[in-house]
Amino acid sequence: MSLREELLAQEYDERTKPRGFVYFTDADGQVVAKTCRKCRELKQAENYHYKSDGFGQLGPYCKVCVSDRDREYYVTNRERVKRVKNAYYHRKRSKQLSLNLFRNSE
Ligand SMILES: [Zn+2]
Repeated sequence: MSLREELLAQEYDERTKPRGFVYFTDADGQVVAKTCRKCRELKQAENYHYKSDGFGQLGPYCKVCVSDRDREYYVTNRERVKRVKNAYYHRKRSKQLSLNLFRNSE
């Protein structure tokens, strides 16, 4: 039995939004399952991270897609991430040094 059939059997309400976005709510209108915007799979709420302003207070991507995306970002941007961190370190450091010089001259 697919998740959709299971949810229907449990008498959750199936709702749809434009562009094939399907979600299920319980009697209180709480979102119990929704479609991941990336992999397009219908998944239960516990497969999404909490997001206070998200639809159903859930992020748009399921946990699998979120961790895939983070890993991809790091792999494809490894050099960039390093450069940005390094630049930040040097900026902080020179600021700190000039503050120290200022203090010493007082
Ligand atoms: Zn997904």
